Amino acid sequence: MPHTNYAYQLRDIKFQMKEWLDMEKLLSMPDYAEMFEADDLDSFLDLNYSICKDVLCPANGEADEIGWKYDPSDVEHAVSSTPAMQEAFHAVVDNGIGMQFGNRDGSCAYTDMKMPLAWYAPILEMQSAASAGLVMNWCITQGATTVIQFEADKKYQDLYLPNMYAGVWGGTMCLTEPNAGSEVGNCATKCWPTETPGKYKVKGNKIFITSGDSDVFTNIIHLVLAKTPDALPGTAGLSLLMVPKFWVEDDGTMSGWNDVTTVGIEHKMGIHGSVTCSLAFGENDNCYGWMVGEGPVDGKGKGIAQMFNMMNEERLNTGEFALGVIGAAYYAALEHARIRVQGRKVGAPKGDFTQVRIIEHPDVRRMLMFQKSMLEAGRALLYSTYYAVDMSHEAPDAETRKEYHDIFMIQNPLCKAFTSDMAWRVTEQCIQTHGGYGFIEEYPGAQLARDTKIHSLWEGTNFMQAQDFTGRKFTMDGGEPFKKWVGAIEEFVATKKIDALAPAWAMMEKGMAAFKHILAMDAEWKAAKHKEMTDLFATHMLHAGASIYCAKCLLEQAVLANAKLAELGEDHFDANFYKSKMATATFYAMNMMPDEVFGCEAMMEAADRTAFDMDEALFDC
Ligand SMILES: Cc1cc2nc3c(=O)[nH]c(=O)nc-3n(C[C@H](O)[C@H](O)[C@H](O)COP(=O)(O)OP(=O)(O)OC[C@H]3O[C@@H](n4cnc5c(N)ncnc54)[C@H](O)[C@@H]3O)c2cc1C
Repeated sequence: MPHTNYAYQLRDIKFQMKEWLDMEKLLSMPDYAEMFEADDLDSFLDLNYSICKDVLCPANGEADEIGWKYDPSDVEHAVSSTPAMQEAFHAVVDNGIGMQFGNRDGSCAYTDMKMPLAWYAPILEMQSAASAGLVMNWCITQGATTVIQFEADKKYQDLYLPNMYAGVWGGTMCLTEPNAGSEVGNCATKCWPTETPGKYKVKGNKIFITSGDSDVFTNIIHLVLAKTPDALPGTAGLSLLMVPKFWVEDDGTMSGWNDVTTVGIEHKMGIHGSVTCSLAFGENDNCYGWMVGEGPVDGKGKGIAQMFNMMNEERLNTGEFALGVIGAAYYAALEHARIRVQGRKVGAPKGDFTQVRIIEHPDVRRMLMFQKSMLEAGRALLYSTYYAVDMSHEAPDAETRKEYHDIFMIQNPLCKAFTSDMAWRVTEQCIQTHGGYGFIEEYPGAQLARDTKIHSLWEGTNFMQAQDFTGRKFTMDGGEPFKKWVGAIEEFVATKKIDALAPAWAMMEKGMAAFKHILAMDAEWKAAKHKEMTDLFATHMLHAGASIYCAKCLLEQAVLANAKLAELGEDHFDANFYKSKMATATFYAMNMMPDEVFGCEAMMEAADRTAFDMDEALFDC
């Protein structure tokens, strides 16, 4: 049996959203002031919880075991899902907690309301915890609406967005080709202008396209990267086109099939609830699309920059997908550790054969805290970044908007890569907590591990994120925003210490010094033009940066929890929650952060180049 039993706790989600983040400030922004109060979030979370528990997670079993079917004989409807998968899709979308969150337009021209993107973070997390496969069936469309909303002419917004927000039509992002994976600029798909301005003929093949075909949608608007005949080489030559599966006339009616063929679906290791397709555009020379925005000038297209509207948010969403898996893994491991009885209590007197539940063993507790602290750390990282995206749109003055945008840009690769790397490790710890049962498909750990592996691969592999963090993000705008980001952590460490957290604080002070040393060593390599050294240690630096930021956030939350405990008293019904916040922050700062930061510092001090320098032939020995 795959993972079908939904056990999720909302208390920490509500704490991080409403007690830690300044939700009042966000909701005082003009687009939200008349619409929402912080407590309205609870009704979305509660609705989402019931759908996850009653519909999504039960459907996850069928999604994993049966998944999508492919029938090449029906070229217009080649892909089909199961009834439970369709029910799950409609339960989410018809209740307004799917692609509707893509609406960033305060005028609400196409949806009933515009909701804070920060609220989407826990919604997505919980949905991914219920089914990391099924959640993709609305999320990719949400991303595509963002591109159309920000980049396409109003005509196409009017034509496509209402049906996309309603979940009637889907959307995709079509970048990958057999020879264009990480190197997306190697794209071989071509487009040629026609006599109708903005309309292009399209021909080429894309692979690995999430929701590339689907029977939950009556039409799909593919966002396709392609090159005009005069395109410059590499990413500079890329243009972006909207290519409908069925052509849409100006009055919104669908005419014929637009020669987009599903030539196969990929058989994946996990996320079987999400269909991944190989698509052929224009096999019959009859595929057309509309250029997004203005076309290329002198062979230089705007495609990659336009696509980044979607990719940036999809990277963030990928962090949330991974976080949901972390949550599902932790709660499954916790339940098992409380039930399974094995061994004697550590230090039990000789002759005492009383068996204990495995949660009483120090090593099992270590594994559970690894999972729990990573869940709360990931939430802090992700939620604060979604919040920054909101404020980068909503803040009243340009300077504040830019500050929040910078935070988003710096933290986005951390959200995507750190959370997904850690999700893989957390699912491994979940399996380990289960012992041999963890290796058996009847227990949830196996599926969670299979499902989360994709999160470190797509949307730019995690190395691409590490390269982005240590490259562009360290140096953007002359390095000032990054300096400010580091300075904010440093200032927190220097000024907010409380006695109740003294040991964790001492570790954090050392961690901060080590992180600054890491940055100084990297700066020296960069000055000496040793890019290979930055690349060799980029993944470690990304983990160190994410860990130091997460430790700061959890300690900040622990300071809040300490004050709350003093106010409420030990006997209050919520006292255990706040004690748990302090314990988790302490564990993270004393065990998780040091592993990443001091390990990275020690390796960078040693500056070992073996992996890069050794002769390739040695790999064979
Ligand atoms: C389930 C699934 C769904 C997907 N959905 C979509 C989708 O909807 N749309 C879409 O367009 N694509 C999609 N993809 C494709 C995905 O984005 C790519 O697989 C990913 O970008 C990596 O490309 P690649 O597989 O060609 O790997 P490669 O680029 O071949 O990378 C292989 C390894 O080499 C490393 N590497 C590559 N180049 C460098 C370099 N310059 N320096 C250092 N290391 C390097 C990588 O980090 C990686 O570890 C999907 C893939 C899967 C499996």
